[in-house]
Amino acid sequence: MRNWVRGGATLIGVWIADDFSLALGRWGVASAARVVHGHVIFAALCLLSNRDMALMAEFLLMSSVLASAHGRLGYFWHITDLHWDIHYGTESHNCWHGGGGGGRDGGQQQFGDHNCDSPWSLIQSAVRMMRDKHGDNIEFVLWTGISYYFNSLSRKSGRLPSHSLNALKNLTTLLRNTFSSQFVFPVMGHDDPIYPYRHLTTLWKQWLPNEALYTLSKGGYYTIEQKVRKLRLVLLNTNLWAASQNNDEDPENQWLWLEDVLQKSQRNKETVYLVGHVAPGADERQAMPTRKSILPRHNAKYLDLVRRYANIITGQFFGHLHSDSFRVIYSDDGKPVSWIFLAPSVTPRRTQSGSNNPALRLYKFDTDTGQVQDYVQYYLDLSTANRDHRAEWQIEYNLTSYYGFRQVSARDLHELAESFTVPDGHLLFSRYYLANSVQTSGLGLHDVNAAWAHSHYCAISRVDYTQYQSCLATGARALAASTSLGSRTTHSNKLLLIILGYLASVTR
Ligand SMILES: [Zn+2]
Repeated sequence: MRNWVRGGATLIGVWIADDFSLALGRWGVASAARVVHGHVIFAALCLLSNRDMALMAEFLLMSSVLASAHGRLGYFWHITDLHWDIHYGTESHNCWHGGGGGGRDGGQQQFGDHNCDSPWSLIQSAVRMMRDKHGDNIEFVLWTGISYYFNSLSRKSGRLPSHSLNALKNLTTLLRNTFSSQFVFPVMGHDDPIYPYRHLTTLWKQWLPNEALYTLSKGGYYTIEQKVRKLRLVLLNTNLWAASQNNDEDPENQWLWLEDVLQKSQRNKETVYLVGHVAPGADERQAMPTRKSILPRHNAKYLDLVRRYANIITGQFFGHLHSDSFRVIYSDDGKPVSWIFLAPSVTPRRTQSGSNNPALRLYKFDTDTGQVQDYVQYYLDLSTANRDHRAEWQIEYNLTSYYGFRQVSARDLHELAESFTVPDGHLLFSRYYLANSVQTSGLGLHDVNAAWAHSHYCAISRVDYTQYQSCLATGARALAASTSLGSRTTHSNKLLLIILGYLASVTR
């Protein structure tokens, strides 16, 4: 009913403005369903007496004011790292693992294997679940890359660049058919077939306005302006900042463009979401930047921009690491001013540094302010799905209640990260640690290892590489001191100390 009333208020507002199509804007097509509700209210109003009409109009106006004061809740999905293995199970049950494992007999499991990239059945079940749980009533879908893992190793095993492009086409079709009346906003990952960019504009033209298609064709990045509300999505091509072969100061002028977009957003009092594949900072599970990480000079520049525009950036959404984690960005005087959410992958994974079950997220946000209110993470327990021959996706957790947040803010995330460094916070760390691997690696409360907790803490709270490395080194020294005082040191603690010490020494 609330939505109906708001729909009615919206329609009356639009009707008075007599500028229906303009007010709706291009992205506003997604609001069409709500406006249809508005028609019903409007038709009902026509049947009322003048006095009733006036009362109802006043009520609707109040509702409209209240709605704008409190904002309207909207939802969006974030799906990332699908890693479809197009040959899964077809070559004597073999499979391919983007991380380099996989191989013979890995492709026998119906919904996937922790040592393999995704079979089609897993991806299909994920997308079907999105549609069934929350298909119509969403504002958009963020899709942050890697359709098919392709590198020099894949070429040796008979995988071809054309497979990569076919995978991207098929996944685009799957999402387009599933979300036929919604918008999907994709970005490219490092192994996606990005060149030439015009392939992308052909593939995604049904989702993007002309201005977005133009910058996408030039540099693989674009922005989406939501005209009715003041939320802007900025979809980045992080490959330009991560590719080691590119020595340009500003590859494809993405920095120039981004700063221009942020300046305009600030002037127009918009709020902004930054979306990309590879986030700045280090991999919390490997205690070092990954091979595909953002290059140091671009990493520093990204942080500088986020600090300067922190007042309008209300969310940053990335994938790539396959783990469930977050980052906190601080102002120059040490105040938490912005956050980044890293969503886990749809593809399962098992590596020495960490594993994960398939997962994805549904975000809840205030559509007027862009303020993220919460998210629900859905996951698939892969062993159970394979045993039962049924992919039963379920809620893994809900962010605010899982960690006891008052709200989703840089301050609350900062406090969570800080708690990891003290014994009292080990309960929260063990919760975080279980979610980090999407329910594949649990820790008993007494098994929380101070060195692990510290390395996660450093990756979360020190997105700047130099600060990250000195955070690791400080942790290594503190642990070494506590060891020399005679406290019990486990084997893994010792091993981590050696790694941390080594990293600290090579990066000084
Ligand atoms: Zn990646």
